[in-house]
Amino acid sequence: MEKLISLAKRRGFIYQGSEIYGGLAGTYDYGPLGIALKNNIKNLWWRMFVDGRDDMYGMDAAILMNARVWETTGHVAGFADPLVECTKCKRRFRSDHLEDKTKCPECGGALGPERQFNMMLSTKVGATEDSSATSYLRPETAQGMFVNFKNVVDSFHPKLPFGLGQIGKAFRNEITPRDFIFRLRELEQMEIEYFVKENDWQRAFEEWRVAMNAWLELVGIDRARTHEVEIAPEDLAHYSKRTIDFEFDYPFGQKELYGLAYRTNFDLSRHAEASKVDLSYFEEATGERTVPHVIEPSFGVDRTLLAVLLSAYTEDEMGGETRTYLKLHPRVAPIKAAVSPLLKNKPELVEKARAVYAMLKQEVPQIMWDDNGNVGKRYRRQDEIGTPFCIVIDFDTLGENPELLDTVTVRDRDTGTQQRLPVSELTNYLKTAIL
Ligand code: ATP
Repeated sequence: MEKLISLAKRRGFIYQGSEIYGGLAGTYDYGPLGIALKNNIKNLWWRMFVDGRDDMYGMDAAILMNARVWETTGHVAGFADPLVECTKCKRRFRSDHLEDKTKCPECGGALGPERQFNMMLSTKVGATEDSSATSYLRPETAQGMFVNFKNVVDSFHPKLPFGLGQIGKAFRNEITPRDFIFRLRELEQMEIEYFVKENDWQRAFEEWRVAMNAWLELVGIDRARTHEVEIAPEDLAHYSKRTIDFEFDYPFGQKELYGLAYRTNFDLSRHAEASKVDLSYFEEATGERTVPHVIEPSFGVDRTLLAVLLSAYTEDEMGGETRTYLKLHPRVAPIKAAVSPLLKNKPELVEKARAVYAMLKQEVPQIMWDDNGNVGKRYRRQDEIGTPFCIVIDFDTLGENPELLDTVTVRDRDTGTQQRLPVSELTNYLKTAIL
C-alpha cells in the first residue's frame, strides 16, 4: 500500500487534499494521470451500463436537495455510525471497527460511552441563517434518481423493467477516514436504480450480479481478489430483502468494493407518501397501477480506482534490473502511448516524431510526448504509469534502411519486446488495443 501511495503521488495520480496547508482528512485530489484514469473508468461504466443498453436512462441530479428528501428516507434520523471517544486523548473511533471496545487503540486510555454519530454533512442554503435553510450534501447519489422517477416516466414512457444511472459526488462525514482513497469524506459514486415488477426482482437481481462481474473483468480488477458476500438476513438494512457485497482483498483486508441490493419499493413508496405525489407506474397491458420495486447496483469510483491500481501494480525483473510497472488494461490506462525520437538532439528525428505524435493525438487523445533522458529511462517511466506502448522514431523511420522507411518501433510494456509497424497502421493498432 505504501509503495502504491508513493507512486500515485510521485507520478501525478493522487495527492493529499489541500496538502500545502497540512491536508484535510478524508479528501484527496486527483492529478493529471489520476483524473485521466478516473475519466476512463467513468466513461467505460457509462458506456457499459447507460449508453450500451436500451433499458437505461442517464441523469445528473443536484448535489444539494430539499432537506425533506433526507427526512423521508430516514437519513436525518438514522444515517449514523457508532462513535466512541477516548476519555484521555480525545481521539474518536468507530466502535464497530474496534476489537476491544473499552480501551483506546492509540493511547490505551478508557473509552467513553458509545453514541450514534450522523454522517451527513450539512450546510446552509440561501441568505438566511435560520434552520429552514439547512440542507445536506447528499450522502449517496441514489435519491436523486428516486425523486426524478416520475419526471423520466412522464418524458419517456419507458416499459418496465428500466433503470436510471448516475455518476456523481457524495459526502459522508466518516468518523475515521482512512486507507488512502478507500474511506473518504468526499467520494464519487456510480449508481443504478433498476425498476422492476415485484415478481421479476429475482431475475433482475441475478442479471445485475452477472453484469457487475462482467464489469470487474472489463475494468481490469483482479478476479482472484474479489469475493461476493451474501449479507445475512439479520444484517440487512430494514428496506432490503437481499444484498450482496462485492469485496476486494485490499492490503488492509477484505473489504467492500461494491454493493448490490434489492430495495423493494421502499424509497418510491416513502417519497410518494411524504411528497403527496403519485409515484406509481401504470401498466397499459394489464391496466394495473403499482409502485415498482428496485434493484440497486452501487459502485464507488474511488474504490474502483484503488482496486484497479492495486490489481495492476507489479514488480518484476527486466534486463537484470527490478522494475515497477502498472499492468493496466489499455482501455483504462491514462496514457495509451508515448511517442519519442530516439535522440532528441537530431532535428530530423524530432521533426518526424512530432508529426507522428500530432497525427496520433488527433485520433487517440491520451498520447504523451516524451523526450526526457535516454530511451531506456523513458521506458521505465512509462512502465511506472502503465503506458502500454512506447513508440520510437529512429533513423530507419527516416529511410536509413529503405525497407523500413516510415516504420517505427512499438514496445510492449508487459513483455518489453519491440516490433516495427508502419506509421500508417499505428492509429488502428492503438484503437484496437483500447477497445
Ligand atoms: P462501508 O461499509 O465501507 O462504509 P457502505 O456499505 O456504507 O460502505 P454504501 O452505502 O453501500 O457503502 O455505498 C455504496 C458504495 O459507495 C460503496 O460500495 C463504496 O464503493 C462507495 N463508498 C461508500 N462510502 C465510501 C467512502 N467513505 N469512501 C469511498 N467510497 C465509499
